[in-house]
Amino acid sequence: MVFGFVKLPRRFASGLLLVAGIALAEPPVNDQFQRCADLAKSVPGVTPAGCMAAALQPSDAKSVQGRALLFRDIPPKNGAPKVKILVLGGIHGDELTSSTLVFDWIERISRSETEQIHWRMLPVVNPDGLLKRPATRVNARGVDLNRNFPTENWEKDAPRYWIKYTNKDPRRYPGPAPLSEPESRWVHQEIEAFKPDLIVSVHAPFGVLDFDGPPPPPLRVGNLHLHQIGIYPGSLGNYGGLKKRVPVVTLELKHAAEVPADKEMDHMWDDLTRWVDERLLKVQTASSKEPDAKPAGESAENP
Ligand SMILES: [Zn+2]
Repeated sequence: MVFGFVKLPRRFASGLLLVAGIALAEPPVNDQFQRCADLAKSVPGVTPAGCMAAALQPSDAKSVQGRALLFRDIPPKNGAPKVKILVLGGIHGDELTSSTLVFDWIERISRSETEQIHWRMLPVVNPDGLLKRPATRVNARGVDLNRNFPTENWEKDAPRYWIKYTNKDPRRYPGPAPLSEPESRWVHQEIEAFKPDLIVSVHAPFGVLDFDGPPPPPLRVGNLHLHQIGIYPGSLGNYGGLKKRVPVVTLELKHAAEVPADKEMDHMWDDLTRWVDERLLKVQTASSKEPDAKPAGESAENP
């Protein structure tokens, strides 16, 4: 299937298919090859073949620049899941290794016998930012997607925070309104439809583990130690953890472009799955909800 890598303008390729009279419910396979070829150029440690093996599906949603927003759904092999976990990478397009980690987890989950967990993986939430040269934190309209979720008092707090505390940092522009961006609307819709018991959001390069929502949090995941760095108007941790009451684990990898060593990747996976086992699977008996969360205090850091 070498043709997938031939540089054929997409419009021309689509035209050929139209001429051939082929009705396509799914995008042409050529698009999947092209997507993976593009992603592999930007996401460290991910090859075109590895990306294809991840078997990402296009959702109904598209980025600002019209790129398909991709996911991989991995339900349990037998029966209904006990726990549903939504995993996001690359919400900030220049945090490249965050996407690498989600691809790595897709591979691990695919080859394991998951029986109790339904995973939904969104490895590249901000493809326009990731594929830009150089990659950008914000989306193609210059919005920080992780400040665009409909948290309490967004209309008042998000612009004020941006002006007062970030000095109108263009990398942290929260957007003109909550959910103004197709990428954040897509994540929001996934949360509404999938109803995850846990959200894991991967970032870089602050080298910490953050947590929002009903406790208890994991204390460490690999070399990342718990350090609750505060909530921001419009952030996913604030929206998911505090407003929706879904635990949100935020992994801040140490480097945005350098993939953690294999051993560290193993440790992170082992720690996270062990915590999920103890925190979620074993608790899924009678009552499902934990006591109230304490909002984490504000701090000067601003990941
Ligand atoms: Zn980030």
